[in-house]
Amino acid sequence: MIRPATRGGIRPVGHVGAMAPYALADPVEKGTVSLAQNESAFAPSPLAIEAARKAATDLLPYPDPDWTELRDVIAGVHHLDPKAILCGAGSMELIASLVRAYAGPHEEVLGSEYGYLFMASACAQVGARYVTAPETGYRVCAGALLDAVTSRTRMVFVCNPGNPTGTLIANSEMVRLRNGLRDDILLIVDQAYGEFADGAEDGFEIMQLAQGSATVVTRTFSKAYALAGARVGWGMFPKPVLLEARKTLNPNNISQISQAAAAAAMGDQAHMKSVVARTAAIRDRFSGRCRKMGFAVPDSHTNFVLIPFAHADAAARADRMLRENGLLLRGMRGYGLAHCLRATIAEAPVMDRVASVLERISDET
Ligand SMILES: *Cc1c(COP(=O)(O)O)cnc(C)c1O
Repeated sequence: MIRPATRGGIRPVGHVGAMAPYALADPVEKGTVSLAQNESAFAPSPLAIEAARKAATDLLPYPDPDWTELRDVIAGVHHLDPKAILCGAGSMELIASLVRAYAGPHEEVLGSEYGYLFMASACAQVGARYVTAPETGYRVCAGALLDAVTSRTRMVFVCNPGNPTGTLIANSEMVRLRNGLRDDILLIVDQAYGEFADGAEDGFEIMQLAQGSATVVTRTFSKAYALAGARVGWGMFPKPVLLEARKTLNPNNISQISQAAAAAAMGDQAHMKSVVARTAAIRDRFSGRCRKMGFAVPDSHTNFVLIPFAHADAAARADRMLRENGLLLRGMRGYGLAHCLRATIAEAPVMDRVASVLERISDET
């Protein structure tokens, strides 16, 4: 006879037991379009699909643990040393690996008020404290972050461009932040949307920060490269940090199929740039329409837009009406922004539908 597991028999470690499960977007019902996860509006490069198909014909061996081809292509495109790059099963894995390596129980990881909430989960997993500094006008504020540093701070985490705000701070601000931090504080710059901002800001300068200081810069194939399902992210690491972070990664973390798809996608810069340009054009048109309705939409440098309503009830009502019309946006209560909805940019006709529903609402009020 096998005895069933009982409550109180098997017990998680304290800080895991105290954690809430990570809040992903609501499941998408049939007939509903999801604008809730910042997935790409457009398909990935056909070369990536072709490379994945080809890789799928030989899955007998374990994948390349050093991501050799993928790292070489990334390094070539971004003018970096391939040995300074780590690849993860999504940039989420890289972020979590850094927290495992550098933040212990009761130590502090400092983020920005509306920073990406996954960091809060990564901290909870190891019993570290996630604390935040205020933003000004939905923008990261280097001064506020520096003011919030304590003797327990081990890591500072900034998304630039931000999620869910979409806003961008200048690289010079980031350098000011780095220069104001102690050398024993690791700065993580999450550039999941970096490709959408590369025109506006010089991404290379931030990568240089990762060459010369205790700074890691992460990017992903999930957004501009339209490969969220492949789970591939990468980052530029200073050598000593790379060695530690690597110990806390799954040693065979990215499937051969995904490595091949990502390498081919990175090789097709023209396709990625076209996705970014087409997305930005739809985004700017949609933002303009929202502003005409009176919504104070912050300037987005990403593939989504944050829509602030007058109050939480108005946002909840809009969310209901959008769902009734087969459109699922992302509620922002978890970020302390219950009065906001976040809309991932989809093809133009879908965004026209979203705008029409919002117009009907604003006409009624
Ligand atoms: C989407 C996103 C990521 C990417 O996560 P992956 O694990 O690479 O898919 C990371 N950070 C932010 C802020 C994001 O919005």
